[in-house]
Order: sequence, then C-alpha cells, then structure tokens
Amino acid sequence: MRTGLVAATAGGRAAAEELVRAWPGAAEIVEGPVAAALRTAFGTCDQVVAFLAVGAAVRVLAPLLAAPGSHKAADPPVVCVDEARRHAIALLGTHHGAGGLAEAVTAVLGGTPVITTASDSTRTAALDTFGAHLGLRVADPAPLAAVGTAVMSGAPVRLDNPERWPLPPLPPNVTPDAHAPEAVISVGRTPSASAESEVSRETTLAYDAPDLVVGVGSARGVATSEVREVIDGVLRASGRDPSALRAVATIDLKADETGIVEAARELGLPLRTYPAADLAAEDVPTPSATVQAAVGTPSVAEAAALRAARDAGRSAELLVTKHTSAHATAALARLRPRGRLAVIGLGPGDRDLLTPAARTELARSSVVVGLDQYLDQVRDLLRAGTSVRASGLGQEEERARTAVRLAAEGHAVALIGSGDAGVYAMAAPALELAGRDIDVVGVPGITAATAAAHLLGAPLGHDHALISLSDLHTPWAAIERRIRAVAEADLVVCLYNPRSRGRDWQLAHAMARLAAHRPPDTPVGYVREATRPGQRVTLTTLGAFDPSEVDMRTVVIVGSSQSRVLAGRFVTPRGYRWSPHTAPGADGPRG
Ligand code: SAH
Repeated sequence: MRTGLVAATAGGRAAAEELVRAWPGAAEIVEGPVAAALRTAFGTCDQVVAFLAVGAAVRVLAPLLAAPGSHKAADPPVVCVDEARRHAIALLGTHHGAGGLAEAVTAVLGGTPVITTASDSTRTAALDTFGAHLGLRVADPAPLAAVGTAVMSGAPVRLDNPERWPLPPLPPNVTPDAHAPEAVISVGRTPSASAESEVSRETTLAYDAPDLVVGVGSARGVATSEVREVIDGVLRASGRDPSALRAVATIDLKADETGIVEAARELGLPLRTYPAADLAAEDVPTPSATVQAAVGTPSVAEAAALRAARDAGRSAELLVTKHTSAHATAALARLRPRGRLAVIGLGPGDRDLLTPAARTELARSSVVVGLDQYLDQVRDLLRAGTSVRASGLGQEEERARTAVRLAAEGHAVALIGSGDAGVYAMAAPALELAGRDIDVVGVPGITAATAAAHLLGAPLGHDHALISLSDLHTPWAAIERRIRAVAEADLVVCLYNPRSRGRDWQLAHAMARLAAHRPPDTPVGYVREATRPGQRVTLTTLGAFDPSEVDMRTVVIVGSSQSRVLAGRFVTPRGYRWSPHTAPGADGPRG
C-alpha cells in the first residue's frame, strides 16, 4: 500500500513529513508543483493525502474523474487535510478506504475525520466491496450507484443468494422475497433473463463469486503456456471466466512443476497440492490406469479439483471433466460455500482495547450471538440489518449450539465474548460442537490477565499460569491439585472467577496453598472491572491479602518468589543478567 502525500504550504509539508515518519516505507511525499503532484499521486499511488483545500483538490481531480475509463471503484481514496489540521476529509474513494484513511491520518496528526458517505454514516456495507473477504467481486460496476441508492432509500430490494454465501448484513429492506423490488442484488450466479423481467438490467447488481477450482496434471517439463491453454479450455467449456477461479490444485509431486506454478502465479491464484493417497480417495468420472501406475492415484486433475473445492466449501461437484493436451490435463470443480462462524473477543471493556479485527468481523456478521451485557457493549458497531441473539448468564451451551447451528445453515455468525473468547469463554464449547461443514475464524482479544497486569505493572514478566477457581465445570479436587502444582513450581498465578456469593471459601483456600510455598511479602495484585467504569486496582501482599475484597468481576495475580514491588509497581523480573559485557541481542531483551 503506497500512500502519496501532496503538500502546497510549509505547514502542509511539515504534516506530510510527520506522516512519512509515522508510516515508514508506506508513505512518500510526491514532489513538484502541487497540481501536477496531485495528478501524479492520483495516477500512481494506492491512496492520497492532500494538504490542500477541498476546492483546490476538486479542481485538479475533477477532469481525471470524467476521463474515459475512470470509475469510482478504481480510483484511489483521497483525503484532504486543512492547514490547521482540524479536519481530514474523505473526498474520494470512500467506498474503498477513504474513511479509514481519514481516521488513520487523524490518529497521527490529530483533528477529526470527516466522512459523508451514507453507507459509512449509517453503517451499511458499501456495495463496491460487499463480500470482498469471501472473494465476491462486482461483475459490472455500472449499476452500483442506482442499486446503492435503492438500498439506502429503504425501497424494497431483492437479494438473490441461491448458493447461500455467508454474506454480511444488508439493511432490512433488502430481502430474498422483496415484493416489486426496485433493485436486485444477485450473488454467485448470473441472473437468468426471466427472473429479471421485473427489474431492468440497470438496477441489478451482480457479484461474481469465485466458486471454481481448476485441477491440473502434467508431464515433467510442461510449458506454462500449455497449462494456461488447457485451463482456458475447461473454463470455456463451463461458460465461466477466470474471475470465477479461486485456486489451482494438483498432486504434491507437482508442487515444483514450473509450468503449473507459473500458470497459477500468472492467474494470481494459490496453488494447492495434495498427496496421491488423498486424491485416490476421490470418486472421479475419468480414472486412468496409466496415471495410477505412474503416480499412485487414478486421477490427478479431477481428483485435485474436487478435493480442493471440498476443502474450501461445504460440498463440491465436478463441473467439467478432464481435458487433455499433449502434456497437460485440467478439470473444473465447483464448490458450494459454507457458513462462517467468527469467534470474537471484545477485550476487557474499554473500547480502545477492542481490536480493529474484531470490529471488522462484527461488521461482516449477519447474526451476532452473545451474552446480553456484551452485546450492549458493541451494538453501535453492528451494521444495519444484523440480527442479534442475546442470552443470559449460564446459557453457554445454548449460545454455542445456536451459533454453530446458524453457521451450519450458511449464515455469517459472530459469537462474542469478553476478553479473549478462547479464555474460559465461548470458543471451546462452540468448537466442541462445530463440524467441518462450517468455516471458523477466531479474533483474539485482550484477556483479563494482561489487561490487569498492565494496570499493576509487569507481573507476567516470567512464567505464569492461569487458573479458574470456578468449580462449576471442574471438581474442586482438580483445581486444588493444579494450585498445589503451580505453588510448587513457583509460577506467577492469575486467578480467574476467583470468588462469588456462592463460592466464597475457595479463594482463601487457594491463597493458603500458595502461601505455603512463598514468603508473606510476595506481591499480590487484583483488579476489579479492569478498563471499565469503576475500575479498582489494588496491590498488597500474600500475608495481608483479604479475600472478601474480591468478587467475580476481579482477577487476582499472585507473584512468584522472584516478583517484587519496584517504585510502587508489581514486577516479575524477566531474569536478564544486565551487564555491559552482554551484547544486546545476544541474551538481551527482544521486546
Ligand atoms: N474470556 C474472559 C474471561 C472470562 S471468565 C477473558 O479473557 O478475560 C470471567 C472472569 O474473568 C471473571 O470472573 C474475572 O475473574 C475475569 N475478568 C474478565 N473481565 C474482567 C475485567 N474487565 N476486570 C477484571 N476481571 C475480569
């Protein structure tokens, strides 16, 4: 990603230099008279920041926008920053990154991002990039504006998604059965003429969905051009074009076959390779005894295509059987997409500690499943049309089941949890239920232990253990055994779920076990409501610790024999032997 910076004044130039320093290697000042520099940046950079008045930028760029071949889907995002750095205005390319660029600029220079696109301000998915993470691509950009207007106006819009791609949410006026639709959004299959009779072509927005995998086989030393030709042959037979391809697949023996590797590279596709035994297990229409004798599977092209398509989807079918040229074979398989479960950690509470990846995944999900109190934390981040399945405490299994079932039905589902969703939370119960028929993506979150650690100092600087004191799912005897083990091992210990009204003696018991192996002045820190309103941070010692101060909204960290309090901060030394003779990097800190 190359960001071109254009400045007209000394102040603008100073701000541009700050961006160059903040984004090393990714931003550069485009030199020259300002109008020419802006034109160059617009023509050659991935995105542009202009330290210019909006009016001046519009004057320079307008003729370029009217130029033949220009389309808003192809133009780089442009952001204008005023001389006082008060505003970073997303001027052009708002559907593919200008809003984010304006935010990134203000993160460095201060000021406020100004974003005027309807879809950004109403939290509707931008149609240019809709489903891009699934590989969807707008087939023809001409209807974008008309369909976008219909979607935003609230008019009935029909959504055709016959293959059930796990799409991001669209506003409630976009439905599969819209009556008398003003526009149609069609995903994954070219709409047939008859189905479109009710709406004109101008108001049908079609997305290509890459649902094809081409399997290839070849003799040693095959030419790239021959591999390309045989691939073109099967594509022609299918009536689809290369944009429908998502991968090239072959047998692992061919992983370094130049002709195949280069053909995949030229097509911009990943090359997937499989062992003969995997390919032999595929049921193919055109097996060959000769191929079996040579490589140990009766089919390479057909079997690899099927196998790779199945890896990427719910099920796969062979669309075009084997085509053969002098030294190469190709076959085409088509996959059916599968539902998507995103397991998302929201962090400990503070919005700044919610990762950008979590925001992105939330916006991609059409159904969000979670505990009501966590859902309330993120409601404003959900796109219009997102359906919300909130449930109460103690309904973990039901939540996990709902999320997995909805994903298996083909939806894009987010299952949310506080902190990290994989730490004493929903990821494990959901994955115990999830089958191979869904895709699972995990978004790590900042867990209570690290959030609390930073408030206390650096207590996790050396080996540590996390232990939950909840005996709802684990017998107390097992918990106690683990506490004894970590006490003996001299590990720093973070206690989750330390104490509730119904479980009031376990914490004191655990602390007594630890005290049997550590001196009474061992530091103990605990944080209640870390990074949330009402946060309370307490630093004490094992000898003075009072369990009644602790509840379920608290995490407790007990030091090891090496931990100490330095300048009021809880530190477990990493153990570096600081010495002028120790070269940094040899045994020194690496961050
Ligand atoms: N998935 C969560 C943990 C869930 S278990 C995470 O990764 O943080 C619930 C326990 O986590 C609570 O009993 C408490 O011990 C701890 N906890 C979670 N959030 C906390 C916060 N903001 N402040 C203090 N403790 C917290």
